[in-house]
Amino acid sequence: MPFDSEISSTENDSKKSLLEKKLTKKSPFAWEKYDEIQRKEVRSLAADYLKFLGSARTERERTKWAVQEAEKNGFKHVELGKDITTLNPGDKIYYVNKYKNVALVVIGKHPMTERTHLIGSHIDTPRLDLRVNPLVDDKQAGVGLFKTHYYGGIKKYQWTTVPLHLTGIVITKEGKRIEIDIGRDPNDPVFTIPDLLIHLSSTVQAKRTMREVIKAEEMTVIAGGLPVSDDKAKEKFKLNILSILNEKYGLIEDDFQSAELNLVSGIQPRYIGFDKSMIGAAGHDDGVCAWTSVRALFDINEIPPYTSVVCFFDKEEIGSNGATGAESKWLYFVMNDIMVRTGIPETITNLHLALTNSFVVSSDVSAAVDPAFKAVHDIQNAAVFGKGITLVKYTGSGGKYSANDANAETVAYMRKVFEEKKVPYQMGQLGEVDKGGGGTIAKYMAETFNCEVIDVGTPVLNMHSPFEIVHIADVYATYLGYLAFILHD
Ligand code: MN
Ligand code: MN
Repeated sequence: MPFDSEISSTENDSKKSLLEKKLTKKSPFAWEKYDEIQRKEVRSLAADYLKFLGSARTERERTKWAVQEAEKNGFKHVELGKDITTLNPGDKIYYVNKYKNVALVVIGKHPMTERTHLIGSHIDTPRLDLRVNPLVDDKQAGVGLFKTHYYGGIKKYQWTTVPLHLTGIVITKEGKRIEIDIGRDPNDPVFTIPDLLIHLSSTVQAKRTMREVIKAEEMTVIAGGLPVSDDKAKEKFKLNILSILNEKYGLIEDDFQSAELNLVSGIQPRYIGFDKSMIGAAGHDDGVCAWTSVRALFDINEIPPYTSVVCFFDKEEIGSNGATGAESKWLYFVMNDIMVRTGIPETITNLHLALTNSFVVSSDVSAAVDPAFKAVHDIQNAAVFGKGITLVKYTGSGGKYSANDANAETVAYMRKVFEEKKVPYQMGQLGEVDKGGGGTIAKYMAETFNCEVIDVGTPVLNMHSPFEIVHIADVYATYLGYLAFILHD
């Protein structure tokens, strides 16, 4: 192949015009690529997604939601190793792991030893957890407080002065299970972390660094402000809160020790902008990928070429640890269970083939270019709002530390899948190399399965805040992308 300078001028001209044509092909923005029917679908999909955001906010709630939706869509619950019956192409099943981890499966035409298509996302979200002994009586301030422990990487100051809802479970010593959900009903009260008034913050707060504007020990939540009328009572505010909890739920203070109570953002999911082009809500990371992937699986109206698995993991925000995180061997055993149910002999070789020949889409959000802080992005390699589903070759930090770094072949395959179905997509990376970093479930899947994995997801602004933002054209593109992947032969 000669260099440009060696090509004759006519050849050069035609080559140039071809290049120019490619460069100016059409707008990179997905909205302009969608026709009228698709634009209507963008809107209706956004409306459905908005409902999900308000109703399922934590890993427990999202697991419950997934089970309900699975049942509605004709998926049958199965347990590992139990009631083994032969499954046929088109059969739909789901597995649940310890209340926080779900796998939904549609059996495909080809055997799993040949190939399986998996989409894995996470359903835990950054939030505040109540401590094991959370209640504090603050006579000096005239309030009862909850001590909290933040879950996941957050800018702590963002979580003050916003309404918070309390959700979760308490298991009493006797094994009684109490579900708590306060704030979601508009008639319910909400909770909040106070922040110091500006008038007095110049000496104690103004010189602190961003990480410490509010310190972890200062993230105390207002739980009540009425004292019990009892002269003998030492902790009057605390006692009043405990008596309300006892009356309503039958709880005693020690029951907090065996509880999982989460404070989630109480800001209602809403459209943003005159054109309602975006959705603001907590939990887009990674609710947007979880929701679009399972919606795609529900919407296929043909038998997929390969067995398709949509999996929701827990604990991604704290390192994918534990029995319900992506580092767990649970999905490995689920894969074996599906394989056996599809009539493939249970041998180590077969399981190895099923795992290693799997293709995993690690479905997680990426950082959209922040209009006010462009300096942290390498614009040429950054995901932009409205340009579609984002392929991320690698995450990690510094010198690709902790990255999965998808093979070029793997990236090429996804490009092909998207191009064939005209899915608006873009390439993205987190930011400038030395400006920070982050990870997803990708490397854990690659390690456990020894398979090809690539990060694919939706660009997000305000990530890990109580009001994250996604673009509706990207939500739709993400849905289309996962649909194309599930049906690709
Ligand atoms: Mn995420
Ligand atoms: Mn995250």
